[in-house]
Amino acid sequence: MLQADWFDGRSARARPVRLWLEREQLVVHDQSLEGVERRYPIRQVQWPERTRHGQRQAQLPDGGVLMAKDAADWDAWVDTSTQGRGLGGGLAERWFSSWKHSIAALVAVVAVGGATWHWGVPAAADVIARHLPTAIEQSIGDGALDQIDSLLLKPSTTSALEQQQWRERFAAMVASQPGPSTPYELHFRDAGQTFGPNAFALPGGHIVVTDELLQLLGDEPDAVLGVLAHELGHVREQHGLRLTMRASLMGGLLGFAIGDFSSLLAGAPAVLMQASYSRDFEREADAQAKRLLIDSGRSPRAMLVLFERIGEWRSKRSAQARAERASEPQSLGRDVGERAKAGAGELLRIAFNTHPADDERTKFFER
Ligand SMILES: [Zn+2]
Repeated sequence: MLQADWFDGRSARARPVRLWLEREQLVVHDQSLEGVERRYPIRQVQWPERTRHGQRQAQLPDGGVLMAKDAADWDAWVDTSTQGRGLGGGLAERWFSSWKHSIAALVAVVAVGGATWHWGVPAAADVIARHLPTAIEQSIGDGALDQIDSLLLKPSTTSALEQQQWRERFAAMVASQPGPSTPYELHFRDAGQTFGPNAFALPGGHIVVTDELLQLLGDEPDAVLGVLAHELGHVREQHGLRLTMRASLMGGLLGFAIGDFSSLLAGAPAVLMQASYSRDFEREADAQAKRLLIDSGRSPRAMLVLFERIGEWRSKRSAQARAERASEPQSLGRDVGERAKAGAGELLRIAFNTHPADDERTKFFER
């Protein structure tokens, strides 16, 4: 039997009671009103957790509250009347009353969180991307193209005739490959020296190629077609959409953690401006490009000319930038708009020119 204070849940007045357990029931015996007993099934009482500090307080199903005069007495009473089995609490209580168990639980939470982030999010994003209605994919792609157009690109100066020739060449190349066709749309744009010779693919089948790329490789049409084939690979594998969904889901998870969902999906086109494809995505696109080059009777080595010339273009451009910086020591004098544009050029990391042409990639097309 234990002495405790009982509150009826309506008034702030404490009344002294005696408590004991009797056949799965808690008996609350009111000492001030001799003989009044209240009985509650043990399972319906919200028992206090056994913390090192703090008081013991039990919530009764009728809104009443029991409060122990002394925590140690309460714990001792629970132990004797349940023969050490305890009340409520259970596993969670035993775990967090031990340092070792708490640390083990923390490690488990971090591991599960990390695994969700690393494998769960990409897998879920791929499933969503596969089942997303075409109309939504199209609107994400259209929105991204509009944004990139307004930030980086100008209307193409390539003649309509030449554009038509490239369209026909690429269509013939794609048609040479058996199997179901993937819808795509080829766009030509002038990118200036910031973005330079480049190409990229967006959700909804948009493939953009810059005038500068056509000029750089005009005498090597197979290399241009190889770049387009690489971009078509990104379209076929839905890389743009999968990337968008991954970033959105991660944003959503972060939003879930910090309670802000406003950025979810609303920023989907902007995601494509900042994210970059994983090495796996690039390998897949390269594999598709190689396949398409071979199936259309071309040599995959055409890509080597491309890597070489883009490398030359990049080093020429950085030498130019160094010279400009040297001749203008007071960088404050530089046009702010120009600097913003240079920054924007680095933004579109899904574009072809920003994938490094390393040894592995060169060897892949060489073999
Ligand atoms: Zn790529």
